[in-house]
Order: sequence, then C-alpha cells, then structure tokens
Amino acid sequence: MKILVINSGSSSLKFQVIDSESEQVLAKGLCERIGIDGRFTYKTNKGISIKEDIGMENHTQAVHTLLDTLVDEEKGIIKDFSQIDVIGHRLVHGGEKFTGSVVITDEVIQAMTECNDLAPLHNPANLIGVDACRKLMPDTLMVGVFDTAFNQTMEPKAFLYGLPYQYYEKYKIRRYGFHGISHKYVSQRAAEFMKQDPRHVKTIVCHLGNGASICAVKFGKVIDNSMGFTPLEGLVMGTRCGDVDPGALEFLAKKENLDFPQIMKILNQESGVLGISKNLSSDFRELKDAEIKYNDKASLAREIFAYKVAKYVGSYAAAMNGVDNIVFTAGVGENDSDIREEICSYLEFLGIAIDEIENRSQAEAARISTRGSKVNVLVIRTNEELEIAREAAAVAGEIKAVKAKS
Ligand code: ADP
Repeated sequence: MKILVINSGSSSLKFQVIDSESEQVLAKGLCERIGIDGRFTYKTNKGISIKEDIGMENHTQAVHTLLDTLVDEEKGIIKDFSQIDVIGHRLVHGGEKFTGSVVITDEVIQAMTECNDLAPLHNPANLIGVDACRKLMPDTLMVGVFDTAFNQTMEPKAFLYGLPYQYYEKYKIRRYGFHGISHKYVSQRAAEFMKQDPRHVKTIVCHLGNGASICAVKFGKVIDNSMGFTPLEGLVMGTRCGDVDPGALEFLAKKENLDFPQIMKILNQESGVLGISKNLSSDFRELKDAEIKYNDKASLAREIFAYKVAKYVGSYAAAMNGVDNIVFTAGVGENDSDIREEICSYLEFLGIAIDEIENRSQAEAARISTRGSKVNVLVIRTNEELEIAREAAAVAGEIKAVKAKS
C-alpha cells in the first residue's frame, strides 16, 4: 500500500509517501509559510529534488501543490491519486475519546473539534489539513493517528492532578501526555534492536527535541509521561518552562501586572533554555557553542536541562520498579552526546555505565552503554511518519479483512 502521511501545522504542512510493505519513503516534502508567501520543498527516492517559492494562500492550496507534484510526469512518483491507498494524519489531541488510531469520519471530526479547547494551537491546524485532503481526495480512506493515544493506558494515579475531583469530571482536567507516536515507535524499535519481547521490558524513552518529554513504558504500555494537560508540563524545554509552582505565577502576575494570556506567552515562548540563557538561544547547538566560550547562562541552561531529565528518569525507574532500557531520541537526544553523558552521570546508582566511543555513534540505532552496564542505554532515531504509516496501514488492513468476511 502507498500511504500519504500528513502532519499539518498552523503555517506548515509536512508530508511523506511511504510504501507500507517495504517501509521505504518514496517522496517527502514540506509546504512552509502557508498564508504568508509559500515555500515548497520536495525530494524523491529517485533523486529528484525541488526547492521553490510557490504562493500557497491556504492549506487546500498547499495540499493541491503537493498532490500536483506527486502526479507530475517528470517529478512525480504516482500516475494518479487512486494510487494513494490511505492518508494518515497526525492528530495531536484526542482527549480521552481516542485510545487508538481511527478512520476519520464526520463524527471523528466533530469529536476532535470538541477537543480543540485542549490543544488550541495544534488541533485546529491538524483539522485544516484533514479538511483540505477531504476536499481534494474525497474517496480516499483517511486515518487519524493521535499523539495522545499511546499514553491513554496511564492509570488514574498517574494522570490525575491533586485538584478537586469535580474538575476532572466536569472538564476532563487531567494529564494526557504527548509525543505518543514517537514514544511508541522508539520503545518498540529499542526492543527490536535489543532482540527483546516488548511485552517483557521496562523502557524509559527520553524524547528530547525543542519540545521534550519522558515516557515510562512497562510491558508495552505507558505508565507515565512527563507532559500533562498540555505539552507545557514536565521538562525544561527549548522555550517552554516545564514544571513550575503555580504560586510563583500568581506572584509574577501581580508584580508585573500581567494577565493570563501574557503569563502563558512567557511560559510557552520565552522560558525554557531560551529564558534561562537570557534569550541567547533555544537551540542546544548554539548553547553548546556559547558554553565553550564560557557563557555561564548557556552552561546553566544545559545543566538544568540535563538535571531535570535525570530526575524524571530516576522517578520513572521507581514508578516501574526497575528499568531495562533508557532510550534517547529526537533532535537533542539523537545528536548531543555531551548531554547524554551528563544525564547518565546522575544515573550511575542504577548500575549504568556509558561507552564513550559508542556514545559518539551516528547510527540509526545504537547501544551506548557498556556490556557490563545493568541498564541498556540506547540512541534511536525517531520516525513518527513511519509509525503513522504503520498505523494507517493496520487500520486499512482491518477494514479490508472485515469487508472480505462479509
Ligand atoms: P521539534 O520536533 O520539537 O521541533 P527536534 O526533534 O527537531 O524538535 O529537535 C530540535 C532541536 O534539536 C534543536 O532545537 C536543536 O537544539 C537540537 N539539535 C539538533 N541537532 C543537534 C546537534 N547536532 N547537537 C545538539 N543539538 C541538536
């Protein structure tokens, strides 16, 4: 099957066409600056590469552009749209309603719209992408793959806040956890790489990108995730603050005469390593360069980041009563060997020992702990698009099987 994977954001739309049997990427690209001036990037596995400015007033035009390119005689990879069997959409927030991937129907769109309040930056942008595809390919099966779904196995003891229970009942205020698509892919790839049965291992995945979260996966099921009601809770991130005492926010609001939207802007966009480094950068590469030049705030930002990751890993080892694999993934986790080493230095009490040479590996999957280490420490390149394609193919396969029976 050929699966078109769509990840639609507010002003950008990423796409890939994946052959579900070989798991090969046939083409991939990015529509950027939608509604502004429009930039289109595209590459195929046959070596065709495009980078051009194309006006894209809205998401429908962006989908138009990518579909026209996919069927283009010279640049394309398919003859017509009917060769796309399924479209898999990355959807951020499925609330408590969606515990797995689903066929996108009017009812699903309605239920997702009801979750818009929970993820106002992400869900409406995802739905615009769905709408654009439905307009242009009305007969193609569409599958929604949620970032929250994998985390839905958390128990109430992990997902409830210490707030009056009525607010959970009335408004579903609880911890949802995010990055589920990545955590699922990476925890399973780790078990496969280590030749383990995922139903028998305890894994902690550290997804350390611009947004960052840690996930405890016990016997294939999520036990806990550091992100909460929104993707703001947990680790110190690129620009997001992570855990903060709400009392400090009331204090700050009074001192600086700020309202809620202003406070939220600070927490989401001006905090994290960017804020700690006094606006130097949210990019870990730039912070490392600054640290080398003895910038003490850059150094402090990286130190706080690593310390917080180690604290979560330690607490999740306790939550699972042990850990077999600790896995680093995403931009920082895959590339920053110094941060990995620093995080692991806090975890020696777990019997962890890092192999300094393996820690420099650039492979898609690598074990960076020594053979004698009591816990396997791995670096695995995340692949959310492939996970979405797998989910979409699985849902399509189930539908086919049901049809064949009836
Ligand atoms: P997101 O998907 O959340 O935007 P990514 O997973 O793409 O984030 O990670 C982006 C971050 O990865 C960048 O902000 C940068 O700090 C970090 N990064 C990328 N490459 C490197 C590298 N070679 N060394 C250190 N950090 C890196």
